[in-house]
Amino acid sequence: MSDTVKKVNLLDFSHEGLKAYFTSIGEKPFRATQIIKWLHQLNVDSVDQMTNISKPLRQFLTDNAVIRAPEIVMDQQSADGTHKWLLRLDDGNAIETVFIPEDDRGTLCVSSQVGCALDCTFCSTARQGFNRNLTTAEIIGQLWVAKRTLQADPKGARVVSNVVMMGMGEPLLNFDNVINALRLMMDDNAYGLSKRRVTLSTSGVLPALDRLADTLDVSLAVSLHAPNDALRDQLVPLNRKYPIKDLLAMCRQFLEKKTTERNHITWEYVMLDGINDSDANAHELAKILKGIPSKINLIPFNPFPETRYKRSSNNRIHRFRDILTEAGYTVITRKTRGEDIDAACGQLAGQVNDKSRREIHFARIERS
Ligand code: SAH
Repeated sequence: MSDTVKKVNLLDFSHEGLKAYFTSIGEKPFRATQIIKWLHQLNVDSVDQMTNISKPLRQFLTDNAVIRAPEIVMDQQSADGTHKWLLRLDDGNAIETVFIPEDDRGTLCVSSQVGCALDCTFCSTARQGFNRNLTTAEIIGQLWVAKRTLQADPKGARVVSNVVMMGMGEPLLNFDNVINALRLMMDDNAYGLSKRRVTLSTSGVLPALDRLADTLDVSLAVSLHAPNDALRDQLVPLNRKYPIKDLLAMCRQFLEKKTTERNHITWEYVMLDGINDSDANAHELAKILKGIPSKINLIPFNPFPETRYKRSSNNRIHRFRDILTEAGYTVITRKTRGEDIDAACGQLAGQVNDKSRREIHFARIERS
């Protein structure tokens, strides 16, 4: 076993966790705040750079800790400026993270798991199977790496202003580590993003959604994709366990535990030609969401090899949008970005070493 294996990774700590760690070694908790700033505001990769930390504490940390983020193995840039990084983890698995620059913002799409267990039929991550949850360090490490790389971009520095947990994996099935990472994203001593700018996207793992409502204020996106159970059962198999009626009830409850930021749900709806994109589907969707403060995000399907689905035509998407708009909803059709480098929604793949664990993981969800 190498030295690094036994050392703690400072990127694995939440702010509170680091305070507890310092208390346990007889240090003052305010040291944790100083170090969180070094790690996540200045993104240093060595304890030596932490000049306001005493020499003995720096020595202790050098002996007992590392600062270890996922390693970039590939950095692809699309014609439209989208970046996709393939990041290698310590165990040889790899994940993907995407940066989408726009005029007024820069959005980082962050992964939460190696692969995914949910098996949504239109998603290429699903085809990879599932290996494991990411650690806190591997989740926040994606932002850490992206920020450092974008700052140093020779074509001009870019800022990550928004984070969406819409990369590989189901964030609510990796609850604790995702919460730790989200807290760091929103911590003024770390990345300082506002709650409005950090979005968790879920297929609807209801017990975890209930827990989230009591745990953290964050923007919520829900992958609905169908207006009835018969169709959703086919597209999002998790629906067989948590059907639409229960999902909508839980979302209403989530909004009732209201804070200033938590004022609507964003519904994601992938547009699949001839599957879920009819006028009748749009009317049904308008009907089931009635009374829930909602924004609807239509996502043109992004194809991948061997998929049986096709993207709805632009005319169809416009018609679908118009029906919802006429029913009073705010509807946004998501722009497809980074297609030339397979960086669009549902195209993230990475490298999943042992895919066989999906069955075990899914069985666990089924039982829970
Ligand atoms: N597990 C989370 C995050 C997944 S990815 C969730 O289900 O919400 C973020 C979004 O991309 C989800 O809405 C997902 O359903 C959608 N998506 C997956 N595959 C897609 C594809 N091929 N084309 C377009 N959107 C896709």
